[in-house]
Amino acid sequence: MSLSELWVTLCSDTEDNYPSYVPGWASYGSDYDKNPADLRWDWTRLLPSLKECFKKLDIPITWLIRVDDGPAYDLMLRKFKEEILGLASTGDEIGIHIHTFIWDRKSSRWKQTRNPVREAQIVSRSLEYFREVLGFSPLSVRMGWNAMNNEIMNALNEKRVLVDASAVPGNYCNGKFGRRDNFYDWRRCPKDPYNPSHLDYQSPGSMQILEMPISTAQSIDAKTFGYFVNGLSSFNKSYALKPLLSLGDEVYRRFMSPHSFFYVSPWWSTSVIERIIAAYAEKAINKGVSFLVGCFHSSDILDPERSALNSFFLRKMERIGKIFLALKRVDVVFSTLSQAAEKYMRSGVIKQIA
Ligand SMILES: [Zn+2]
Repeated sequence: MSLSELWVTLCSDTEDNYPSYVPGWASYGSDYDKNPADLRWDWTRLLPSLKECFKKLDIPITWLIRVDDGPAYDLMLRKFKEEILGLASTGDEIGIHIHTFIWDRKSSRWKQTRNPVREAQIVSRSLEYFREVLGFSPLSVRMGWNAMNNEIMNALNEKRVLVDASAVPGNYCNGKFGRRDNFYDWRRCPKDPYNPSHLDYQSPGSMQILEMPISTAQSIDAKTFGYFVNGLSSFNKSYALKPLLSLGDEVYRRFMSPHSFFYVSPWWSTSVIERIIAAYAEKAINKGVSFLVGCFHSSDILDPERSALNSFFLRKMERIGKIFLALKRVDVVFSTLSQAAEKYMRSGVIKQIA
């Protein structure tokens, strides 16, 4: 008898760095607080080490290349075109990661626009930049800050993107970093993949695009701590996280995570991730197949405090890879996001829901 299948997809958002509230990034990362922004892409010199880690584990990665209509535009696509196409040639997928920034003259900063018409325009423009530079259209997308609304989803659908993985079921954020960005609402969406409704991106409907949410755990601890961390980072002078992280840094990294979803970060514990892997393996055993989607930021390969390789992050990735490989009662299938979406649609699960 054949084993149940656990399909596993790891996606990487590829922006340059976090805003300056994360310790170290203010001195080593890009500066998004001016126009034009000062983009350094320092982490990319360590991309070969990151790629080598996944090659050893035999895990294909879905690289979601950062594009927007300011401040990054198509600069990453053009500057790293050869490297990007090189990744695609090894079986990885090249998708798109779109941020909906606008330049705010009043505060003299780039901010997340909350204007749905402008957001849809930025999405369409970013998809055009991608095709113009790389010569093909992306099948997979994850929006910056998990941003979504009906206009964005409709724009992605009209441009025939196959799959979106912006959803983090049960999660909501009303702004971080001085309320500059991170506005999103995924409180009502299903945990399983679905074709969204034209009228409500959080409900199943008749769009062609498939929403494949980031896999989540039911974790009240993580949610409560997440609200606390989000609350801290919404202060105007958003350096509040720095003392929190330096106070018993090891304790936080080992045991605490503000995320209830599959997000690999060098700053937080992998305990939630381990629970999610166990739950999805169990689901595969019960249903015959299950689909797990996780994400990370590739810029985390750079330790911003030392401007050096973050071996802590690499070890974390290796550990997670080995947990998957050690699963006994399921057949683990590592795939790209679009391969997982195609498999999901072929499996007929959606028809059963409809
Ligand atoms: Zn992003």
